[in-house]
Amino acid sequence: MNKTLEQLPALNLDALKIIVSDWGFPAYRAKQIIGWRNKGVLNPDDMRNLPQDLRTALHKHLCCQPLKQVQKQCSSDGTRKYLFALHSGKNIETVLIPEPERATVCISSQVGCVLDCPFCHTGTQKFEANLSAGEILAQVLAVKNDLRENPLPSELHNQVTHIVYMGMGEPMANEEALHASLSMLMAEDGLHISRRRITVSTSGLTPQIDRMGQLYPVNLAISLHSALDQERDTLVPINRKYPLQELRTCLDLYPLPHQRHITLEYLMLDGINDREKDLEALAMFVNLQRDRVNLIRFNPYPGSPYKGSASDHMNAFAQGLISKGIRATVRRSRGQDIMAACGQLKSSFAP
Ligand code: SAH
Ligand code: SF4
Repeated sequence: MNKTLEQLPALNLDALKIIVSDWGFPAYRAKQIIGWRNKGVLNPDDMRNLPQDLRTALHKHLCCQPLKQVQKQCSSDGTRKYLFALHSGKNIETVLIPEPERATVCISSQVGCVLDCPFCHTGTQKFEANLSAGEILAQVLAVKNDLRENPLPSELHNQVTHIVYMGMGEPMANEEALHASLSMLMAEDGLHISRRRITVSTSGLTPQIDRMGQLYPVNLAISLHSALDQERDTLVPINRKYPLQELRTCLDLYPLPHQRHITLEYLMLDGINDREKDLEALAMFVNLQRDRVNLIRFNPYPGSPYKGSASDHMNAFAQGLISKGIRATVRRSRGQDIMAACGQLKSSFAP
């Protein structure tokens, strides 16, 4: 791919109008192209109402190749895990999580991750690249296209309604592409998804959280995993740079719409962060008005060094939080049979 080509997934209507006018076509053609793009159709040959010479121009001057689907695995619960090849040849994973009333796409923001959280499969893979905004958006478009071509069973929702940045990588460490992709996800001439239906998960890069709050105040999820600095320094090493107190201040300033919450994600590891003193520290950290806690079951992957807390213990831990007035839930894991659950994503399919 020629790197200088603009990417169709990341273009807005005004920019495309200028481009097609430069090519000598009327501006309404841009609207038709954007209409196809937003449905997940990127290949100009499939844009049936365009003249052939415009299709040829699109092929030649814009990057409009869809992501190449290398593999797709479908879970018994409807979850689909996709392995896509970027134009660079590197692979990323994207997950579709359908439910009766909604369907969520979990997208990747980087190939690998620099942050090395020891419990995370992605963290075990060396960092290879930041995704461009076009590559982040192309994942959503590819899933939309797959839903058109291969609809889900009727009891599941067949339209993409929610987006979570919880796939491979740390979105805040790829800030420019994060912002550009958020802008396009929300734009009226883009995918037009409300900010209440978009969630960015981060291990806690506070300056970037501040900036996102000012520009794109979408839902925020924090991978907390411990409220004790000493433990979190190991579990989420970025804590050494942005310790808990700094994170707390940042979260208290994050703009929250009425009746919305910050989600504190808390992976439960046997004997590591599920003790009485961990519960006490977590309860001290939580801001009752702003936060809710999501307890996450540890998803093992081949060679992972940790053991998850037992289910009974997780429920007791949740009850301990609830008894202190904290909103706490135990997250249901999806797609575990195809290694599509949180923290199991990696660029190649594990044996
Ligand atoms: N880098 C971002 C987003 C990607 S990770 C972040 O860390 O928030 C998405 C979520 O999966 C995070 O909460 C992460 O802590 C969690 N996760 C990572 N490994 C996991 C595992 N093995 N089991 C369960 N959840 C895991
Ligand atoms: Fe990176 Fe998030 Fe995995 Fe940590 S949990 S290594 S920040 S992807």
